[in-house]
Amino acid sequence: MEGAKPGATEAANQIDPKDTIFAKIVAGTIPCKKVYEDEYCLAFDDINPVAPVHVMVIPKHPVSGVGNLATEQDKKAMGHIMAKIHHIASLKGIDSYRLVVNEGVQAQQSVRWLHIHLIGGRQLAWPPG
Ligand code: 5GP
Repeated sequence: MEGAKPGATEAANQIDPKDTIFAKIVAGTIPCKKVYEDEYCLAFDDINPVAPVHVMVIPKHPVSGVGNLATEQDKKAMGHIMAKIHHIASLKGIDSYRLVVNEGVQAQQSVRWLHIHLIGGRQLAWPPG
């Protein structure tokens, strides 16, 4: 896998989502700037935004990544999240945005708790880098 160190994917797959920073944010032991929350999901401002609007939208129960979506709870949460995205964007005052999910090492997923980047508030370029 070009660009990723040997064994990096295996190492990333060993990370328990419960040991990530997002677990602490969901638990409330690390603060966040909350945008939206309900039974299934939490949305909060990214600490290092790449655009005027950059929100993390995450399931409230631990899931490592897209490759680990398996249970009915996982599927229900992710369907619910997609149905809430436009509302979450509206809470930030936008109706045009980009959704990004980085899955795995080569895609530079840095937090092994599945998250959707909701990015907008400026003209976005395509294709992305
Ligand atoms: P990834 O690179 O895994 O797709 O995205 C992880 C995102 O989480 C990054 O955009 C990063 O800025 C954000 N992030 C990492 N740690 C924290 C934190 O403690 N608080 C918040 N609000 N965002 C974080």
